[in-house]
Amino acid sequence: MRTALVCALVAVLAFSLVSAALPAAANENGQGNGGERVLSKVTFIHWKKNLPAKPPGTPGGKNKSGSCYNYIANGAKWRTQEPYAINPTNGDSLSELFVVGSNEAGVVAWEAHAGDQLGDSYVNYSASYNDDYLDGVNTVSFGYYPNSGVIAVTTVWGYFSGPPSQREIVEFDLLYNDPYFVWGNADENPSVMDLQNIATHELGHGLGMGDLYNSECTEQTMYGYSTEGETKKRTPEAGDIAGITKLYS
Ligand SMILES: [Zn+2]
Repeated sequence: MRTALVCALVAVLAFSLVSAALPAAANENGQGNGGERVLSKVTFIHWKKNLPAKPPGTPGGKNKSGSCYNYIANGAKWRTQEPYAINPTNGDSLSELFVVGSNEAGVVAWEAHAGDQLGDSYVNYSASYNDDYLDGVNTVSFGYYPNSGVIAVTTVWGYFSGPPSQREIVEFDLLYNDPYFVWGNADENPSVMDLQNIATHELGHGLGMGDLYNSECTEQTMYGYSTEGETKKRTPEAGDIAGITKLYS
């Protein structure tokens, strides 16, 4: 009798945990059956090689011709200020000051047009990239991504469907692929991957921007490819500026 009761309780508990871990089924408006918002994630992969077309499985590229900007989802943006953690650990002997400064410069470049949206950065030597689940911490770190053609990866979590006024970004995690690239300041050494250049692009995803792959958008910060020595993505261009300004207006 007692054993049966315990088994029944364990079964109920197990079912509850599974239910909580599964996203609610969404209707055609992207809302759950009860009208609740559905949390999802999108991962942007920044490639080095200039492929003839948008890599398969890459989000973005839905911009109208001539606009040179797009979003993760229209209206999906930060609605409360949250700080972001930077882990300066890297394999290229870059100083904490340089790593923090390069990433903060990326945020400042966007916020010059969007207003203050992210909170302050802070240094945390144990912060790491995690795209498995929402952990409540925005992170910027170096690490290993198992593809030598991938410069950086940013995963953004949020509510990307339903009415645009209810869409929202809730977390981002940014990873610089360390072992395959020499990171640094391309003003001093044009053979390195410029950290500020890639930071501005990736943090654009963290603020809600999507990638661009159209040939007419190659000068934009959100263009989907980069190479060593490139610095033109450090500051947003006309399309980027139009997009971020509209998103946060
Ligand atoms: Zn990108």
